[in-house]
Amino acid sequence: MTDQTYRPSTLLVHQGADRDPATGAAAIPIYQASTYHHTEGRSGEYDYARSGNPSRQQVEDAIALLEGGVQGFAYASGMAAIGSALSLLRSGDHLIAPDDLYGGTWRYLSLILPEQGIEVSFVNMTDLQAIEDAIRPTTRALFIETPSNPLFNITDLRGTVEIAKRKGLLTLLDNTFMTPLLQRSLDLGIDVAIHSATKFLGGHSDLLAGLVTTADPELAKRLKRFQNAFGAVLGPFDSFLLSRGIKTLKVRLEAGQSNAEALAERLQEHPAVARVYYPGLADFAQRDLHFAQAAGPGAVLSFELKDKGRVAPLLAAVKLPIIAPSLGGVETILTHCWSMSHAAIPAKVKEQLGIKESLLRISAGIEDVEDLWEDLEAGLGN
Ligand SMILES: *Cc1c(COP(=O)(O)O)cnc(C)c1O
Repeated sequence: MTDQTYRPSTLLVHQGADRDPATGAAAIPIYQASTYHHTEGRSGEYDYARSGNPSRQQVEDAIALLEGGVQGFAYASGMAAIGSALSLLRSGDHLIAPDDLYGGTWRYLSLILPEQGIEVSFVNMTDLQAIEDAIRPTTRALFIETPSNPLFNITDLRGTVEIAKRKGLLTLLDNTFMTPLLQRSLDLGIDVAIHSATKFLGGHSDLLAGLVTTADPELAKRLKRFQNAFGAVLGPFDSFLLSRGIKTLKVRLEAGQSNAEALAERLQEHPAVARVYYPGLADFAQRDLHFAQAAGPGAVLSFELKDKGRVAPLLAAVKLPIIAPSLGGVETILTHCWSMSHAAIPAKVKEQLGIKESLLRISAGIEDVEDLWEDLEAGLGN
């Protein structure tokens, strides 16, 4: 890896290696090979592509550099990254997770982990006391997501890490929404940082990928062993696309964030809108906590319509946003959480969590904000 003293925006561009050591090519090539010649029968730096590949190595080094980890790991999707990170738990362990978790993670934690002998408690993680109260003798780890989505609940990362250190628990943070540019997980004391790189890090809605890193060499060794044994690795072509996406993260995120700020303010003023959820708003309840641990509000916001009957006409009317369950692309993405991103969560649970049918999520892209607003405003009616 290169010198760690570079600042994040420089690291984004130059990453672990910014040119091919073999040829000087300005981009690390797509090393599309499953295995490597063993000269005179001896293995070199790379021996088989599940264990390592130079295209994948570049994004693994990039995430380690960006978060301040000792080693990075790239997987075939964000869920593969989450599942692989949770391999640090064993049968008989107990895990605490937020009750308003990303839908796919909720599915994995509530349906798959219990079958493997790992019990999970879902608690309101905005309440540090609720976390403490959920701890059992078998509790081994805390899984955190902040801001949560789509309701933007903020978990106090320093407070949660303090509890975990006192009780000897591992902390895993899904840092997808903030990226390492806005929220430096490992600096805040988190043990394992996880990203769905499908979102902002990739940034172009053209790949699935997951990244994990840790500052603890012992955890890194176990993650490496599981990655090699289980094999849910990111392929060379997707690694190339991800590396290319990471190079422009700063300009994309800043542009999307500034569009999100403008849209959140205008939506708040719109008569058809009941409520806007966005950490960048002046009256966002947990604003101080969010900005104590993150450098910006991010590029995603949610809003509730006064009349849920207006959701379908809005989705039919808008022309610019992709209507889909994803976020973090250069194009604006509009999500009906109830039926898309949170479809895996039963209706009753969604209602308890406050995820209404009238709720929509916007991942602001980098288009001209006036075009975005005109499109949305026309769809909202009056
Ligand atoms: C999308 C997402 C995931 C899952 O990532 P995939 O790449 O779709 O597997 C996990 N966590 C959060 C917060 C996400 O937004």
